Amino acid sequence: MIGSNAPHLNFQILLVSLSSEGVNAGMTPKDSYPISRRRFLAASSTMALAGSLAHAPHEAAEIPSTPKLALHGGEKAVKKSARLPLRWGEPERERLNAMLGQESLLYWKGPQTALLLDRFRKICPVKYAMNCSSGTAALHIAVAAAGIGPGDEVITAPITDIGTVIGVIYQQGVPVFADLGANTYNLDVRDVERRITPKTKAIIAVHLAGNPCDLAALKAVADRQKLVLIEDCAQAWGTNYQGQPIGTVGHIACFSLQNSKHVTCGDGGIVGANDERFGPLLQRFGDKGFDREKGGLFECFATNYRMSEPQAAVAAAQLDRLEGIVSKRARLGDLLTAQISGLAGLQPHRVASGDRCSYWFYMFRLQPSAFRCDRAEFVKALSAEGVPASAGYIPVPLHRNPVFLKHGFFNGRWPLRESGLTSMDYTKVECPEAEAILRTGIRVTIHEAMTEELILSVAEGIRKVARHYAA
Ligand SMILES: *Cc1c(COP(=O)(O)O)cnc(C)c1O
Repeated sequence: MIGSNAPHLNFQILLVSLSSEGVNAGMTPKDSYPISRRRFLAASSTMALAGSLAHAPHEAAEIPSTPKLALHGGEKAVKKSARLPLRWGEPERERLNAMLGQESLLYWKGPQTALLLDRFRKICPVKYAMNCSSGTAALHIAVAAAGIGPGDEVITAPITDIGTVIGVIYQQGVPVFADLGANTYNLDVRDVERRITPKTKAIIAVHLAGNPCDLAALKAVADRQKLVLIEDCAQAWGTNYQGQPIGTVGHIACFSLQNSKHVTCGDGGIVGANDERFGPLLQRFGDKGFDREKGGLFECFATNYRMSEPQAAVAAAQLDRLEGIVSKRARLGDLLTAQISGLAGLQPHRVASGDRCSYWFYMFRLQPSAFRCDRAEFVKALSAEGVPASAGYIPVPLHRNPVFLKHGFFNGRWPLRESGLTSMDYTKVECPEAEAILRTGIRVTIHEAMTEELILSVAEGIRKVARHYAA
């Protein structure tokens, strides 16, 4: 990487300057952490590139007066805009053409579905897999297969797509929201434990932005309490937890192929499991309760979440692109972290060392007291610099949405609560860290068509704005 990007730079000199001031300089003891080999490499390649640009971070830190913000008429930090990723083309066309030659487009025994599931198993090695109509459907199938029934509680994260809990509510279960880690934005395992009751049956671990949850800790809690651990991998295609493919630690893994995800067929999903208790049920719960191996009578009640062959054709082609997409995103996100670590009042997106994150988005947090402006002003200044930034993520944690506050899931009513099967009152749920994350987070777009050079200029824009407004 270094060689190809900056062949003229002397790596030895680079290492010296990096270790003496580049990475640790400017970090408060609280912020500093031992850098991993991967971070070190990310940082050193950064320095290699930065050497050919004007402002290496350690140099900029010594400039006393900050350059004029683009917001105030100064020069923009990001001069080139990113080209958009080319998301589909010949491989998808090839699969669609093959699909059009088929006599049937039903998933069952469909060659596109077979290919999709085959490729899926290479990414997420599971014995049982069912392709379905959405990530929401995958999660509903998982919850149904896990045996969630009336009044059963399912602990999950309040910052996620509502699709994480839709299936829980349709199965007459009760989503219980636990608080999040301040910088990972994923479930805080100790808070999960605090919210366990005799009614708790499952945990849905959402790998937000493709950042793997602390799965070892969650699995230990699930095993100890005999809970089903479901992984919501909708934003985590292609990521790794401590070297293991995402979706293989929990009992059931759910993926989305919706248009906004980094691999897609417009709408679609896949649910997979190794566990013999749940795996064989996945097909049935996505296929109207049919057991197509046996046929005949319906033993269980379910809806139709089937994926058809045209979607499977596109999705199969997309999975072939996954490694290229995620390795690039992971590298760019880690690079941004290396570049903005140690800035006073700014907390980067924290990914555990040894994990690979897809950075479905990148989000850093502001410590409000460290700046002379509010978040809106900060984002405005970033946008003026050409940084693709926006405030927060979803407007409020899930339980602060009107449908939760009114307990109005079924035509304005919630029979479960009316009948006393749950006493859940969403107006009383408190997840202070989740609220704070949404109030202070700034999201930065990262995608696979961006270059390392562009990320360096994005980081330069962030540093420039942070220094300008530093309290
Ligand atoms: C997108 C998403 C879902 C839902 O997937 P759909 O395919 O849109 O139904 C669920 N959870 C998370 C974390 C998501 O990002």
